Amino acid sequence: MRVSAPVAFTTVSDHVFRAPKGTRDILWPDSARWRALVESFSEVVGSAGYLEVIPPMFEHIEVFQRLGEATDVVRKEMYAFEDKAGRVIALRPEQTASVVRGFAQHRPGLPYKAWYAGPNFRYERSQKGRFRQFDQVGVEALGPTDPHLDAEVITLAWRFYERLGLRRVRLLVNSLGSAEDRVRYIDALQAYFSADRDALSEESRATLEVNPLRVLDSRREPDAALIDAAPQMPDFLSDDAAAHFASVTGALDAVGVPYSVSPRLVRGLDYYVRTTFEFAAEALDAAQNAIGGGGRYDGLAAELGAPETPGVGFALGVDRTLLACDSEGVFGPPAAAVDVFVVDASGGTEAVVLTDQIRLVGLRVDRAWDSRSMKAQMKAADRSAAALAVIVGDDEKAAGTVIVRDLRGDGGQETVTRDQIIETLRARLR
Ligand code: AMP
Repeated sequence: MRVSAPVAFTTVSDHVFRAPKGTRDILWPDSARWRALVESFSEVVGSAGYLEVIPPMFEHIEVFQRLGEATDVVRKEMYAFEDKAGRVIALRPEQTASVVRGFAQHRPGLPYKAWYAGPNFRYERSQKGRFRQFDQVGVEALGPTDPHLDAEVITLAWRFYERLGLRRVRLLVNSLGSAEDRVRYIDALQAYFSADRDALSEESRATLEVNPLRVLDSRREPDAALIDAAPQMPDFLSDDAAAHFASVTGALDAVGVPYSVSPRLVRGLDYYVRTTFEFAAEALDAAQNAIGGGGRYDGLAAELGAPETPGVGFALGVDRTLLACDSEGVFGPPAAAVDVFVVDASGGTEAVVLTDQIRLVGLRVDRAWDSRSMKAQMKAADRSAAALAVIVGDDEKAAGTVIVRDLRGDGGQETVTRDQIIETLRARLR
């Protein structure tokens, strides 16, 4: 870029850089909680044989276009750009397409059960719980059409929420039928809404042109009455699709996962067939209470170049799931970054050795810096919220001992020899 006019120069004091709109810095302790959430997710889905896949954060734009030209995510919200070689690249707005593209490229054995975690990018209007860079965790299971696989993925999401401690999550399920059932339903909706086109909101009239199913998602006032009386998907299900769905709900009943059937749950992607589902957090406002969702996408793998391979999966929003945890007062952030704080008033060399020794046995330990006074170091120990302090002064150094002080309430203290330190710390932390 050539700059023709002088650029205004701001001094550091009056110019503070900020993260771009729709993005945030996740600082500790939120970052620790974030990581704990992903860890917990990986354990839940890992217990069912799902293995991690780490797809790239950008793809050739065509990969995402396969999700359907009519979806908002593809039509309006994608961050796309031309790279230096003239390829049109898009930052991933979601990960199903990338995971399935990876499946088509590498053809791992079936069933292919994968999980992922990471950021997606959508140029959305940012607000509480809606960001331009947001994280999801999710699974994709390719191969079987078995309805019990649909029930497995739904159950795993449910168990994950339970494990976080969430109690006010509502599961909505529906079936969109086979690809043919879906087409018949879309035709019926098209005819129904077109007959009363003028009664629809302007946005819904535009949506009707590209994807009549999405009109059902409208929460705009003028559309409510028409949507209420619209044809319902269950009336268009073939026997086969109805039996598949009955088997999914039967399996959910068998494992005791509560759900409601919501005939209007259609979800965005053009490739969804048969099962669709969504999780809503009752503790959040309606505008951002969708904390996760998914469904079956039997046509997507073939669209991306693999042999016809059915698939089912879900994505859960990390940001919103944590908001739901806040609202329910569960899965709180950790209180402290370290377990132990070393206070060395004998010159500083002791702290170098002690921190290393304590870390080597797997405890988390920090220390003060810059040879501060004993008092300043004790203050730093309190601020760290560590449970225990290991204190060395000149006397302790000479005697080969340390003081282990409990910083929690009136925990007391004891003087121990060097070889008793680890044992003492462990006993007190237990
Ligand atoms: P979707 O991929 O649109 O089906 O979204 C799945 C989940 O991701 C939603 O239920 C949300 O929890 C989350 N999500 C989607 N878009 C955003 C966003 N812009 N900001 C935060 N979370 C989002």
